[in-house]
Amino acid sequence: MNTRPDFKYLVASAMFGFILGAFVVASLGTPSAFRQRAAASPASRAAPRDAANALDDPGSPVLEAAAPTAGRSGDPTIATDAGSLQGRGLTMPVKDVPRTALVQSFHDVRSGNREHEAIDILAPRNTPVVAIEEGTIAKLFVSKAGGNTIYQFDPTEQYAYYYAHLERYADGLKDGDKVQKGQVIGFVGTSGNAPKDTPHLHFAVFRLTAAKHWWEGTPIDPYDVLR
Ligand SMILES: [Zn+2]
Repeated sequence: MNTRPDFKYLVASAMFGFILGAFVVASLGTPSAFRQRAAASPASRAAPRDAANALDDPGSPVLEAAAPTAGRSGDPTIATDAGSLQGRGLTMPVKDVPRTALVQSFHDVRSGNREHEAIDILAPRNTPVVAIEEGTIAKLFVSKAGGNTIYQFDPTEQYAYYYAHLERYADGLKDGDKVQKGQVIGFVGTSGNAPKDTPHLHFAVFRLTAAKHWWEGTPIDPYDVLR
């Protein structure tokens, strides 16, 4: 009897198993940012520099700050990125807030011994939030920590801009929209874990990976980008 059909069946089964396994791995791969961040050593963090200034308390690593940062301090190219972005003439993300009002809080420690990796810009509730540069709305995302958030890619899709704690989105805004510099994309609020009496924009910048996933990248201090 010819065993060839059995062999073919085995090969087909093995291939199916492999594909199924790959699919399962891909499905589970989404929280990679969470795992990377969890792996960051608390011992390597700086002491709280200005903890009293902490305006929000990002509880979820992926959703609030978007960016895994293990080894961030060892990446000398990030300073170059900040300088390059600063040279683009970006607009401030909150209407009528001057650059002189910016307070650096990138290294402030939040809950879970994590760094803030963002900047908080105070403004009255419902103050317009605008795109700091032209680009694409990568994702409108609602999370427990960030509340109503927007992930925007820059025109080169090397960087993402993250706007959180929005009171609401601009009417009609949706994933994939092209936006212009200065276009209103949302409004300042306290959604997510922002104190209800302290409306502010939590704003972050990160360099995307080659995969260009809106949820992962290397954070860049927005203070260096915007000031
Ligand atoms: Zn914040």
